[in-house]
Order: sequence, then C-alpha cells, then structure tokens
Amino acid sequence: MPKLTIARLDLGGKRVFLRADLNAPLEAGAVSDDTRLAAVVPTIEHARAAGARVVLASHLGRPKGKPTAEFSLKPVAERLAVLLRTEVPLAADCVGPEIEAQARALKPGRLLLLENLRFHKEEEANDDGFARGLAALADVYVNDAFAAAHRAHASIAAITKHLQPAAAGLLMERELAALGRVLEAPTRPLLAILGGAKVSDKLTLVENLLSRVQALAIGGGMAFTFLKAQGLEVGRSLVEPDHLETARRVLDAAKRRQVEILLPLDAVVAAGLDSPAGRTVDIGSMPPDEMGLDIGPKTVERFAAGIGTAKTIVWNGPMGVFERAPFAQGTMAVAHAVAGAKAFSVVGGGDSVAAVNAAGVADRIGYISTAGGAFLEFLEGRSLPGVDALTDA
Ligand code: AMP
Repeated sequence: MPKLTIARLDLGGKRVFLRADLNAPLEAGAVSDDTRLAAVVPTIEHARAAGARVVLASHLGRPKGKPTAEFSLKPVAERLAVLLRTEVPLAADCVGPEIEAQARALKPGRLLLLENLRFHKEEEANDDGFARGLAALADVYVNDAFAAAHRAHASIAAITKHLQPAAAGLLMERELAALGRVLEAPTRPLLAILGGAKVSDKLTLVENLLSRVQALAIGGGMAFTFLKAQGLEVGRSLVEPDHLETARRVLDAAKRRQVEILLPLDAVVAAGLDSPAGRTVDIGSMPPDEMGLDIGPKTVERFAAGIGTAKTIVWNGPMGVFERAPFAQGTMAVAHAVAGAKAFSVVGGGDSVAAVNAAGVADRIGYISTAGGAFLEFLEGRSLPGVDALTDA
C-alpha cells in the first residue's frame, strides 16, 4: 500500500475527519439498503476504540448545492446508530462556528455526523475556502469513501491541503488492495467480464484491459456493436454506429496481443423490453425485427469455460436486461459461475453487485466493491483524486 493507512495513525484524543460514502438509497424516509453504511463501520469502530473523536462526513444524492430536507443525512444517522449500537448525533450543517464548537466538544470515542456536504455548492467545486472550513473541524484526515474517490471534491481533494496527515481508512485500503490484485499483479490467466448497455462508456476500460488480461468476455448490449462490427446481423439490438470502427480496432488489437475475446454465440431475442418472454437464437440467425436482450445458454457455457480456467476474474456490467425476469438468466448464470470459480474474483458496479446478491452468491465472491464509477476509473488505469490526495506511506 503506497499510501498512509489509518492503522499507522496515533488517534488517541485526536479529532478525525472521516470522509465516508454514506450515499445509501432511501425509501419513505429510511435507508433501504445499508451496504455502504455497513462497509464503513469497521473504520468508525477502529477510530472509536483508539480513542478518536470522530467527525463523520458524507454526501447524499444530488441536492444541487443547497439544503433540501429530502437529502438530509437524518435517515443515515438513524440507521448508523443501529449498526454501531451508539448514538449518532447529526449536526445542522457541515461547516461554521457552531459546528466547530460541536466538534471541539466531542469526547474521545464519540461521533458527530455532519449534514450533507453537497448542501454547499463549494463541495463539488473543490473550493479551497470551504475545504479549509471542513479542515478546521479536525486534527487528522481519513478517507474511507472509495466509491467517491474519482471525484475531485472539497472533502476528498482540497481538504488535504489543510489537514494532514491524510490516511486511507480500512475500506479504502481493502478496495485498493483488491483492485490492485487485479490490475497490478494478477495471478494469470486474468479474465475480465464486461456487460451493460453501452460500448461508448467502456471503451477506455476495454483498451486498458487489453494490455493486462488474457481473456475478455463481452455480454450485454455492448456486445452487439462488436458483433455488428464483425459483419453480423443484429436486428434491432442496441448498436452504437459511431463506435463500430473502434470495436473493429479493439478486436484487431486483441488478436495482435493474443487476448481471447469471448463474444456471444447465441442471444435471447424479443420484440422489445416489455415482451413477456424471449426466445433463444444462434448469433448468426438474429431476426432483423427483434432485439437481443440477454445472452443465451451456449454463450453462458462459453463464458463459464473461460471462468473455469481463469485464476483472476473481474466483472462489471449485466449480461442482459436483467431487471426483467425473461432476460435475467444470463446474468444470474454468470454470477453463479463466477462464485463457483477457483479464481480470485472481484465484482464492481451497482448492477453486477445487485445480480450477485439476487443470485445469493455474494459470500462466494472474492471481493465485492462498494464503488461503481470509481471502480471503472481505477480499472481504466486513471489515477483517482481521492487516492492521489492521501499522504504517501
Ligand atoms: P451500464 O450502466 O452501461 O452498465 O448498463 C446497465 C444496463 O444495461 C442495465 O440497465 C441493463 O438493462 C442494460 N442492458 C444489458 N444488456 C442489454 C441489452 N442486450 N440491450 C439493452 N440493454 C441492455
């Protein structure tokens, strides 16, 4: 780990500014999925046990720079209090003299949750003055918000100019270790499985992965641009005509690098997303008036064979329109195959993680990332502002 970690900090009596990603989904004023909250609990407990006074901060949703009741962290405070079995008082704001007084008054082992950072437009603008206001609340900085590490926001980037040392929390450390195990020194062969709607969103990712993987399986809507680029009829399937040329380039580059590209052999087709059922056709016999909405069983078998021989697997993106039951089977089958693999597996991105949970195999995945955007940017080989800003080890 090239960055300072929380384990190396002497936290006794110190006020710790702990930036977490508590951006959990809400329903009827309560947290409906507390995965992200639970993921940061070990870091909070570590800090409290070390006698730290914890100033906890997060964003929630997109309140557009002004206080909005709908985006208050109140439901998060309530849920966190249950998870931590302690009181989680919520401050009225995240900066200013009153909040500073509250932070100063914190006793060792106690916690104060700041109100939504994005109630101030300066947060997303990475504003230096606002960052100084946040820094005034604490003595040391810890970032555990890996899921937000691709954002150069004030509480993630600028704050570290005013508050040092800046260390990775336990979750940040685990995320970087797991993703590093895929990108930097994977046990080979390394297989990447990509799905989801658009090729355009994942081109940089595909290009970076080509120099690292031994095999790349492509499913989901994005597969059809690759299939069409090879001259196949894909009917009304999702295709990005502007990217056909790039898809061809990717296929050529893969051949040159001897990367095996696994594309669908069959597809589940239907008239549209709302069709009550689909039917399986071979990829060479796609009907012109229908669209491919899932991978078929031959493709599952092909992908499963690749999964079976891989020693490291990274997966992002569903294999079909998995939100609809008739088109969910391919994604579920891949989730089961990845879970059954002997390889070290990493799954990231909301849809793939939801699929792994729906398939009931989460406990058999090597590592499940809490991140979507940051996960992809890391795999694209980009440096993340939230990681760069941390103090070197
Ligand atoms: P992304 O955000 O790019 O990872 O895409 C996720 C979305 O891709 C999901 O909502 C899926 O329903 C959608 N998707 C997956 N496969 C297909 C497909 N064959 N056709 C259209 N949409 C798809």
